[in-house]
Amino acid sequence: MRLLIMGPPGAGKGTQAARIAGYCNVPHISTGDIFRAAIKADTELGMKLKGYLDAGQLVPDAVTIEVIKERLKEPDCIRGFLLDGFPRTIPQAEALDRMLVDLGVRLSAVLNIAVSPEALLQRLTGRRICRKCGTPYHVVFNPPAVPGVCDRCGGELYQRSDDTEETVKERLEVYTKQTAPLLEYYRKQRLLKEINGELDIEDVWKEIQGVLRGLC
Ligand code: ADP
Ligand code: AMP
Repeated sequence: MRLLIMGPPGAGKGTQAARIAGYCNVPHISTGDIFRAAIKADTELGMKLKGYLDAGQLVPDAVTIEVIKERLKEPDCIRGFLLDGFPRTIPQAEALDRMLVDLGVRLSAVLNIAVSPEALLQRLTGRRICRKCGTPYHVVFNPPAVPGVCDRCGGELYQRSDDTEETVKERLEVYTKQTAPLLEYYRKQRLLKEINGELDIEDVWKEIQGVLRGLC
């Protein structure tokens, strides 16, 4: 299965992607996670990226495309993959199409998790993430059993530096201008599957499972 998960920041992509990756036995590839890991490791790439993430701006296409091109060459992608947060611009989508042609494969589906802007602001400002395993939580909608501690691995939870109200507003604008047009791109290719992301986490997952069953 080769899947894309799309939707505005805070729609629940990461939350559902972890489940989809397990269900379909494919790697979950998040460009945001790759970039944050590079920043944390203080690599040359990381130093170039930090300013873009802190400002809520997109990393330039050339850098992002190169990162995904290399990642899709890894052997675990032979059985399929789930891309989360990529593509985010039309040039990225066109580059992905070329990569897929080179690999001799096609996308199975593009899942779009739709959520209203008001709900997104609430979701992002209340988001907490495990430092160790990356599992996302929410202080109200999906709290851990013990505040500040990951249920899965006991790691410490932290708040992403770009999950502040000001940066969230910028990220939502960037999404509307640069990423939302991709929905039409994939609708035209008849790949788009709409998911109601306003439901609670379990019900969103049920909708996604319904779509995935239809693809198997
Ligand atoms: P994305 O990867 O799309 O940015 P996340 O999966 O990190 O989004 O989810 C953003 C925040 O919203 C997290 O705090 C998460 O726990 C919470 N969340 C995810 N799905 C739902 C949902 N269906 N209802 C309420 N909160 C949700
Ligand atoms: P995310 O974890 O998906 O919310 O992404 C966090 C940040 O990483 C974004 O606000 C961008 O700065 C950057 N980023 C992630 N994916 C991409 C992409 N495909 N293109 C450009 N920038 C990206």
